[in-house]
This record gives sequence, C-alpha cells and structure tokens, in this order.
Amino acid sequence: MITGILKESGSENRVAILPGEAAVLKKMGIEVLVELNAGERAFASDDAYRAAGAIILGRKELISKAAMLLAVNLPVGDAISSFREGQVICSVLNPVENSDWLEKARILGLTVLALDLVPRTTRAQSMDILSSMATVSGYKAVLAAASILPRFFPMFMSAAGTIKPSRVLILGAGVAGLQAVAIARKLGAIVEVFDVRSAVKEEVKSLGGKFIEVEGAKEDSAAGGYAVEQTGEFKKKQQELIQQRAIAADVVIATAQIPGKKAPVLILKETVNAMKPGSVIIDIAASSGGNCELTENGKNVIVNGIHIIGKSDFPSDMPSDASKMFGSNIINLLKIMVDKEGNLNLNMQDDIINGTTAIHGKEYISQRVRQILNIK
Ligand code: NAD
Repeated sequence: MITGILKESGSENRVAILPGEAAVLKKMGIEVLVELNAGERAFASDDAYRAAGAIILGRKELISKAAMLLAVNLPVGDAISSFREGQVICSVLNPVENSDWLEKARILGLTVLALDLVPRTTRAQSMDILSSMATVSGYKAVLAAASILPRFFPMFMSAAGTIKPSRVLILGAGVAGLQAVAIARKLGAIVEVFDVRSAVKEEVKSLGGKFIEVEGAKEDSAAGGYAVEQTGEFKKKQQELIQQRAIAADVVIATAQIPGKKAPVLILKETVNAMKPGSVIIDIAASSGGNCELTENGKNVIVNGIHIIGKSDFPSDMPSDASKMFGSNIINLLKIMVDKEGNLNLNMQDDIINGTTAIHGKEYISQRVRQILNIK
C-alpha cells in the first residue's frame, strides 16, 4: 500500500507521522509519500523524511498516488472531488463539526478512519490519540498557568520569609485533568479536584490531589467510562461548591467534557467575579464551549484582573513530542489493519477496526459516529 502524509493547514504545527515513524511504516511494507514541507513546523525536514526512505511530493500528486492519506486534522480544505472512491483517509474526525464533509465523503465512497473514535478499551490503549493529546494538554495547561500567575507554585522558605504554596483547582479528572494534577503537584501546589465519576477518586488521591465529592452525581456504566449529562439539582449544588473552592484557588484548570455534547458550564460569571485578582483560569474545554461562562475559545480574556485562557490546541504548541505520540498511535492502529505485505485489510469483526471506521463502502459503520450524528 502507498500512504501519503499530508501537510496540515492553518495554525496546526503537528504532523501525523515524523521521520522516525515513517521508517517504521516502511518496515511494515508500506510505501511512504510525504507532502513537501509537511514536517517543517514540527522540526522535521524533507531530508530527514528522505533519509527514512520516504518520497517528497506536491499535494496534488501525493493525493492522486496514495491509497491511504494520514493527517492530524481531516483535510476539509480540499474539495471532496480531490479524492477518489476507495481511498482511505485516517485522521481526527470531529464528527459533529465535520458532519457535512463526512456525508459528501460517504457518497463519494471514501473510507474514513477516525482516530478520535478509537474505542477506549485496554487493547486499544496504545492507539488512543485522545489520551496522548490530553496528556500534552494537561501538562502544558499547568505550565501556561504557572508562567502567568504572579505567584510561586511551591511553598518557599527564604530569608525574606515563608511564601505559601499556590492552590490549584482542577475540574474534570480524565486524562488531561489527571496529568494536570501530577504536574501541579510536582511544582509544589496544593491541588483540589472535581469530577462526576467516582471511579477517579482513588487516582486523584494517589497523585496527591484532594477529591471533592458532590453527592448525587449521575453515572452510567453504558457510557464507556465517559461522563453523562447531570440533573439540574446536581449542577446547582456542584456550581456552589466549585464557587467556594474557586474563590480559594489561584489557578483553575478546566478539562470537563461530555463526548458529543457541549462542555458543562461549571464556573459562572459570579464565581469569576468572586475570585482573587491575579488568578488564572485555563479552559481546555474551550473548543466545545468551555467550562467557564466567560471563556472565549482561542482568546485570553481578562476580567477583574483574572486571566481566562480558552485554549484547546495545546498539543500544537508542543509539536515534536505531540507528533511523535500521534504517529506511534497511528502505527499501533495500522498494525492490526495491515497484512504482512503492507496491504490494508479492514476486518469489521474486530471491535477496534469497526469502532474506528466512520464510513466505508458508502455506509456509516462506527456505532459511536451513528449515535453522535443521530443516524438510524
Ligand atoms: P473527557 O475528556 O471526555 O472528560 C474529562 C473529564 O471531565 C472526565 O473525567 C469526565 O468525567 C469529567 N466531567 C464531565 N462532566 C463533568 C462535570 N459536570 N463536572 C466535573 N467533571 C466532569 O475524558 P477523557 O480524558 O477522554 O477520559 C474519559 C474516560 O475514558 C476515563 O474513564 C478514562 O479513564 C477512560 N479512558 C480509557 C482509556 C482506555 O482504556 N484505552 C483511555 C483513555 C481514557
């Protein structure tokens, strides 16, 4: 099979496959074409790809030659007619945002493998791009907060007196939230955490954070480990308790999400108004609406001396390691889809392949994509 690595557009700095991972694809019997300057913003030169055995081409020629295209983001900037029936595109899908493009791709007969639909199972852990990128986001979010905060994170005992440690409040203890707990603790802060899933309580504690429980959370074992929408009564109780803890905090890292839905609003305008000037809110959930009522995606809003940073693209700010993790996840996924000769073989009986395939043979395949897009 011939694969093509696409150059990303817009502000995206990552690339789906770095030269090291291109060499692994070659060893798997896969031919690798790379778009001119595809790795430039992730600090990988065309020469480094050539040394790994790849061929550098312009975009048009690459798309016409490759049987499978690998990208970080779905190439929605290209007209659907640039692609051909039977061609495979493997990237992050964002099904809600890209539903129109996906429908056109289905009619044309493309196969779309959606990296954000890889099931969250033990077997699929090494292919889980969401976890890899959430790890980067949790790490970077804490560092971003520490660099803006007008205070130290750790306690300091110096000749000038004792400085108290900062207090960090983390909303949502998924992969990003737990990473943020770990980094904030390493920097010496006091960390408090909210989540609606009681299963994370022990993990938070083991990382040195304090789990704040709000009674009456709705949990659903059928949600595959994800959170579900909460009742109005619970939301009110939770917002009150979060307000109490946010007033005491110096930093809030907001990561709470519900797949396929708008992010829950956990920090109201009143809460921001009651917080200490100089405090920092980093809202990773910004692209799905944000956990703070005042968050604006991609912006740093300052209200009463409080920075509210709406940022969901931290992985693009750390393109070397983020691309390395991204490419390793893709390779682990392709290992279960590619035969010894390097050809793609999509066995739809395999739960990972079935769950990841958004469209194939002019049909919607993945149960999750059908659910999210409400396809009967
Ligand atoms: P996510 O990004 O969907 O959400 C982040 C966190 O926000 C979650 O912990 C969620 O419970 C929490 N949240 C949602 N609504 C909230 C609210 N109103 N108040 C407070 N918190 C709220 O989550 P994620 O990081 O993608 O992880 C989701 C689940 O998937 C976890 O159970 C995780 O352990 C599991 N997971 C499994 C695998 C695997 O086995 N391969 C890999 C990664 C994650």
